[in-house]
Amino acid sequence: MTAPGLSGFRYFSGPYEDVWFSEQGCSFCGRPRPALHTTDRHRGCLKCLRNRRFRLAHDTDLGTLENGEFLVFDHEVGRMIVSPTPAELRPEVLEELPFTPRFQSHQGCHFPLHCMDAMCYIGRWTPADFLNAQPANPRSLYLSTSGGDPHLWDNAVSEFGRTADSWPTESSTEWAWGSWCYMFRCLHCGQYSSNWDTD
Ligand SMILES: [Zn+2]
Ligand SMILES: [Zn+2]
Repeated sequence: MTAPGLSGFRYFSGPYEDVWFSEQGCSFCGRPRPALHTTDRHRGCLKCLRNRRFRLAHDTDLGTLENGEFLVFDHEVGRMIVSPTPAELRPEVLEELPFTPRFQSHQGCHFPLHCMDAMCYIGRWTPADFLNAQPANPRSLYLSTSGGDPHLWDNAVSEFGRTADSWPTESSTEWAWGSWCYMFRCLHCGQYSSNWDTD
């Protein structure tokens, strides 16, 4: 959380290092690396993304946003189908999310929704980040971001901690099994949300 955040994107204010870059250069402007993977096997740089020369697909709570529609897997028909876009959804989701960098993840990045808007990615949090944000009870802060799911936290306590009271510490920079905890903040009410995965 020490690196400066990436500016100019509504839904991405995490560190530059978190952007999911490809090793190849931009196929739109020809700039050398790094560039982002697009949906159609091209690669595009941040500048071309800001200039809207290409769009990216994003996984959200409503399905995968791709070409202006939310796609969900229908188990009955065995393929992706279009899911209706809620009328109350803020228009910025369709306007800005396709032009938002994806962040590095183990299993694929997912943008949660809150207040009928996509939440802003703010970076990966370590256990020490939760301790610094709420020293008196970092676990309850974590639970408030995870919808009450304790698994990531409690697995780390049993792997790294002697007791729940002695973990985390200022030097707790990793989760169990090399997991990553992705943090988001609601642009309207300020609510934090986390999700996590492991490889
Ligand atoms: Zn470019
Ligand atoms: Zn909210």
